Amino acid sequence: MSKRDYYEVLGVSRNASEEEIKKAYRGLAMKYHPDRNPNDHDAEEKFKEVGEAYAVLADPNKRARYDRFGHQPMGTQDFGGGFGFGTEGFDPFELFRSVFSGFGGDIFGRPTGGRGHRRVRRGTDLQLELKLTLEEIAEGCTKKIKVHVLKPCDDCSGSGSRSGKTETCPQCHGSGEVQHITDSFFGRVVNLTTCNVCHGEGRIVRDRCGTCDGEGVVRREKTFDVKVPAGVSSGNYTRLKGEGNAVRNGQPGDIIVVFKELPHKLFTRHDDDVLCEVEIGYPKAVLGSSIEVPTLNGMVRLTIPPGTPPGKFFRLRDKGIRHLESRGRGDQLVRVTIHVPEKITTREKRLLEELENMSHGGSGDSSKPFFKKVKDIFS
Ligand SMILES: [Zn+2]
Ligand SMILES: [Zn+2]
Repeated sequence: MSKRDYYEVLGVSRNASEEEIKKAYRGLAMKYHPDRNPNDHDAEEKFKEVGEAYAVLADPNKRARYDRFGHQPMGTQDFGGGFGFGTEGFDPFELFRSVFSGFGGDIFGRPTGGRGHRRVRRGTDLQLELKLTLEEIAEGCTKKIKVHVLKPCDDCSGSGSRSGKTETCPQCHGSGEVQHITDSFFGRVVNLTTCNVCHGEGRIVRDRCGTCDGEGVVRREKTFDVKVPAGVSSGNYTRLKGEGNAVRNGQPGDIIVVFKELPHKLFTRHDDDVLCEVEIGYPKAVLGSSIEVPTLNGMVRLTIPPGTPPGKFFRLRDKGIRHLESRGRGDQLVRVTIHVPEKITTREKRLLEELENMSHGGSGDSSKPFFKKVKDIFS
């Protein structure tokens, strides 16, 4: 049976926020809940379908993976140690209860004895720079990056404990928070702070795993494919959700890839247009010519009309950079300059002198005969 796209199932766009996804799920789950649709098999299937879609899309880690790989053979991935990406053993009713009982998004964390208000720890984000050539930017590309990142330890499944067992924190009794009560003029004030014994996890490890020294995470080199959209500029970035540093009993951070445009030997960029300079000889400028011009996609022919002045711009349509947020692409501008040789042969010197005498004799504005004469000399 082929599965429907999760975004389609929830009726949200691919860049929907967590809040929009949750809202969509709430609406659909209420609509299709079997209690409201007794003996309606279709409704029950729909109820399960929206639950499964929500279970994946509400979890940044699973969502990122789904965005990149689509539907996976469930339960086979052991990505991120204890997190898992499977939906096997998934109970849509349990999910429904947790979402509607005010547990928030926390249901995707580790089992914590059902304490919903415990703050979810989050691993740190990693930021790195990805250098791109203008050619890569012009068309978009996929680049591999290698990153050293904290991942859940395999030997203890990310628990930090050799036996896999953890104990309830004796200081906060598993809540991860400590109450500080102060009596003031206005009455009793209760302040909650993160427990400093378990760092908000609610659980502590007694028999530390030797591999990760009880941290539950180990540093590993990982390779990622980063999709670079065409038309990006330096400072634009993409976020690999959930691929950053993992943390014991919490959610992993993100990897933030910041794009950096490398200078180009031939081209300068102006928005999505690229500019290059091409030098031609004086005769070609005078007589007109067809020349080869480099573009971001190889050489093209450009017709130089007779009488082209130095510094003239030619526009090669759609030879620039693809627009980032719309269809189409920029142009290439070619600025033609005239090459003046430093050394010339005796024959060239003679011809130029002849030309010089002629153009003076022609008193300036008689351009037609002048060009005709030039044509005769150089061809
Ligand atoms: Zn370990
Ligand atoms: Zn504690």
